[in-house]
Parts: sequence; C-alpha cells; structure tokens
Amino acid sequence: MTIRKPVVAANWKMNGSRQLADNLLQQIQESGVDKQLQVVISPPATLYSYIDEKIIQNKLEIILAAQNINELDKGALTGEISAHLAKESGCKWVICGHSERRSLFNESSITTAEKFVKAQSVGLKPILCVGETTEEYEKGKTFSRLTAQIEAVLHIGGKTAFKDCIIAYEPIWAVGTGKPASPELAQDVHRFIRGMISSVCPTTAKSVCILYGGSVTPENAASYFAQPDIDGGLIGGASLIPEKFIEICQTAL
Ligand code: PEP
Repeated sequence: MTIRKPVVAANWKMNGSRQLADNLLQQIQESGVDKQLQVVISPPATLYSYIDEKIIQNKLEIILAAQNINELDKGALTGEISAHLAKESGCKWVICGHSERRSLFNESSITTAEKFVKAQSVGLKPILCVGETTEEYEKGKTFSRLTAQIEAVLHIGGKTAFKDCIIAYEPIWAVGTGKPASPELAQDVHRFIRGMISSVCPTTAKSVCILYGGSVTPENAASYFAQPDIDGGLIGGASLIPEKFIEICQTAL
C-alpha cells in the first residue's frame, strides 16, 4: 500500500481572475475532492491573499502554492517576492524551477536549488520541477539532464533536501504543447527519479510524491495516475477550466 497521498496541482501561470478563483473554489467545495487528495492551486501572486481568505472562510483543504519566489530574503529587487512574503500571503507550497522560469527567465539549476532551500527554511514546501528540452530528449539525454537538476538540489540542500518536498517531472516538449509524454515513458522517468532519491535517502524515496506535468487532460489523466511511481499531476491549461480540473482530481481518487 502506498503511503503517498495523491497530489493534483493547478498552475495558472499568468492567467486567472477572482471570478475564476470563486468558480473553481465553489466546484472544489461541491465535489469534496480537497478532502480526499492534496488539491493545490498556484495562482498569480495578486490572488494569493484573496484565495487564502476564501479557503479559510469556507473551511476548504486546498493547498495554496506560490508560482515562484526569490532566493533572497529581502532587498532592492523590484517585482520580486520573497519566501516570507509568499508565506504571509497564505501560501503553503511553492513551485521552484518551472521550465518557464528556467527557459524564459534564465534561472539555473543552482538558482532553483537556492529557492528550494529558502522555501524549506521558512516552512514552504517546494514543488521542484525538472525536465528535459526537446533536443535533450531527442539526443537521449533525459536522464543526464534530470541528474544534473536533482544533484544541484543535493549540492545546496544536502542529503536530506528531499525529505519534505514534491517533485514534478515536466518534459519541456510536453508542457503546453498538447503532446504529452506516454504514460510508460513518464513511469520510466519517475522510477529513475525515485531511484536517485533512494540512493541518498531510501525512506524519503518511498514517501516523496512525484507528479507528472505536460498536457494532462481529463481524457489522459487516468493513464498517468495508474503508474506506480506517478503520484499525481501538475496541470497547466486544463486547470483554467474548473470542470476539467475537477475531473482530473476525481481521476486521482
Ligand atoms: C505546466 O504549466 O506546468 C503544465 C504542465 O502545463 P500544461 O498542462 O498546459 O501542459
């Protein structure tokens, strides 16, 4: 029996509104999925406090996650948000190293690892995103790319770094493209990631949730969630349509 409670996380990126938040929260409440699995919403920062208040008012068990934090505590960094600020706005978790942060904002694996460690230091649970580019995939470099991304976290955070976190495998070629990885390929990669964690900490490897992300839909979600090393999903596009997101959550039950 698995000790891992499934996670389904909505990553709204730079989308959404108060109206969408109200709609999604209402549908989550009606369906009760938040009581049965770990349902996460990661909206733009302007909605953190708004959603946090609604979660409290309506006694929801939704986990609010920041989309990003800066690795420093404070300073002259216009437009940035520290881990403390995200926490003060109600966030419990934070996405670190999403492929869009890595590719569009040039964030390295070391910077990602610094954010990961900073998040843990204030009590935010990091969701570490890892994944290879199309070129790396085609050249058979998936495992070496993931190894480098995971080793960066071990380097900064030490052997116990993965004790309290979530990992999301998101092949860049599958994110937002409508071309998901096959469930078999995703399972192979998830097994590899769990094996890497196991080589430094076998207990953590058994408990750490590893999510698949990349063009997950209500139609294909079940094929991922049926894999032994896939513990849920990180959902982009489909999380902006409440009905679809709820359906994906229900598939993970
Ligand atoms: C994502 O943004 O993390 C993601 C997986 O997006 P999509 O589901 O749209 O591929």
